Amino acid sequence: MQAAQKVPLTIISGFLGSGKTSLLNHLLTQTGPSNGGRRITALVNDFGALNIDAELIAEKHGNQIALANGCVCCSIGDDLMRTFIEVMQQDPLPDHIIIEASGVAEPTRIAGFAAVDPQMRLDGIVTLVDAAAHHIHSKDPHLADNYAKQIAAAHLLLISKTDLADEKQRAALSDELRASYPGVPLAEITHGKMPINVVLGLNTDSEIPHPQGDIEHDFVQWAGHLSDMPRAELIAKLETLRPHVLRAKGVLRDSEGAYVLHLAGGRISTEAYARDASGHFVIIGKPQMPDAAALAKLFTRSAAA
Ligand SMILES: [Zn+2]
Repeated sequence: MQAAQKVPLTIISGFLGSGKTSLLNHLLTQTGPSNGGRRITALVNDFGALNIDAELIAEKHGNQIALANGCVCCSIGDDLMRTFIEVMQQDPLPDHIIIEASGVAEPTRIAGFAAVDPQMRLDGIVTLVDAAAHHIHSKDPHLADNYAKQIAAAHLLLISKTDLADEKQRAALSDELRASYPGVPLAEITHGKMPINVVLGLNTDSEIPHPQGDIEHDFVQWAGHLSDMPRAELIAKLETLRPHVLRAKGVLRDSEGAYVLHLAGGRISTEAYARDASGHFVIIGKPQMPDAAALAKLFTRSAAA
C-alpha cells in the first residue's frame, strides 16, 4: 500500500494545560461539510479519571473517542492499541486520525503504538509550548525530563498562551526553540486558532518503533463531582494546594451559573459555560500534593458549609 493511501495520524502533545483541547476544538470546527468535509476521528486522552477534555469539545464533528483514567503512552496503552484497531476497521476509513495526548504523555511512545496497524502512518507530532509557563516547567526537576521529551519529539512546535506571556518571555522562548530544534517549523498560537492545513499534512517519514518497557508518570490525581460549591470557595481551596498542583479543570455550576474552571501554568481562570455542566472536576499535581483521600475531603463540602 502506498504511503499516500495510508490513514495519517497526528499526535497533539504538550504539557498539562498547554492548550491542546483548544487546538483540537478549533481544528474540528474546520472539518464540517462547508470546510471540505474531511472525516476526522479524534481520540481524546485525559490523564484524569474523568474525561473533561472530551466534554469540552464544543460540537460533534466526526467521530470522537474518549480515553480516560490513565495515560495512553503507558498505563492505558492497551486501550489505545485496541482503539486504533477498531478505528481502522471503520468503513469508510477516516481521512485523518488525531489524538490529543494526555499532558504527561511521551508522544513518541504513542506513535510507536500506532505502528500496530500497517495501514496507518504517522503524519506528525505537534507539541504546544506554553509561553507563560515554559520557564517554570523546563526548570522544575520533577517535570523537566518528561517536558523536554514532548518538545524534542515535535515535527511542528506551537507556542501557546502568547497573550499571557510578556514580549521578552515570548522572544526568549522562540530563540531557545529555534536554536535547540533547527529545521522544526515554529508558530505562535492564541486560543487554539490555527489553520487545519498547517497542523495536518506534515508528512513526516519517521519510523517509530513499538515502545519497549513500561513507564510510570509520578503524579497524584483526584477526580470527583463538585455540586454547587461557590467558585470563590473552590478557588480558595485550590490556592491552599500551591505550589504542588499542576493542573485542575472542571465543568461546574454554582448559584451564578455554569462555568469552566482551569488551573494551568499556575494561573486560575474561569469562564461562563453555555451548556449543561456535569460538575466534573479533576486535579493533577506533583507527588508532594496531598493524596487522593485528603483531596476528596478538601473538595467535599461539609454539611455545615
Ligand atoms: Zn504515559
